[in-house]
Amino acid sequence: MDYPGQLYVIAAPSGAGKSSLVKALLELDSHVHPSISHTTRPPRGQEKHGREYYFIATDEFDEMVKTNAFVEWASVHGKQYGTSKSIIEDRVSKGGDVILEIDYQGALQIRKIFSNAILIFILPPSWEELRSRLERRGEDTPEIIDLRLKNAALEVAQAKEFDFVIINELFDRALFDLKAIVHAQRLKFAAQLRARAPVFEALHIS
Ligand code: 5GP
Repeated sequence: MDYPGQLYVIAAPSGAGKSSLVKALLELDSHVHPSISHTTRPPRGQEKHGREYYFIATDEFDEMVKTNAFVEWASVHGKQYGTSKSIIEDRVSKGGDVILEIDYQGALQIRKIFSNAILIFILPPSWEELRSRLERRGEDTPEIIDLRLKNAALEVAQAKEFDFVIINELFDRALFDLKAIVHAQRLKFAAQLRARAPVFEALHIS
């Protein structure tokens, strides 16, 4: 389906800096809105229900799966994560841009349903840097860090399926790259025609 809003899907291994990049983009660009996922994992640190995630029980999650409330859902690091269909459709059909931070399995599922979605993969500059970022973050036990790194090896192999790749070595450079991707979508013919209709009319272009 072709919606007036653009859907961006960002995937990356844990620690690659995806959340910080998305947060910075959201602060700079009020036309882009986050999609808040549902998860069965417990909140970490300062996370709040309804802000980072909707933290729900496994039986509630299973019920949402049964009632087709998710456009995609996946099991990541042993916990379940899902994206609500209605939240996304509502926004993009009204012309808002939506950004999803999800794992690569979910990203590839989204593309099957929203064929115009732009898929962006964030890579760390090296395995050493990824490990040290996860350690510095101090949120996970050494066992969880090992699990995240093991999963990361599988995840980065999927980068080739994505439309764009950003290597997050220097944060500002990576943010510039992300903004450039979003900006470029707004310069596409159909997007310009929607956003600048009077100019096109005056130029007799339809
Ligand atoms: P974390 O627990 O570190 O917040 O997230 C773990 C992984 O789950 C990350 O790769 C994150 O992007 C992914 N994730 C978060 N929400 C969703 C979702 O709705 N669907 C899918 N497939 N993955 C998600």
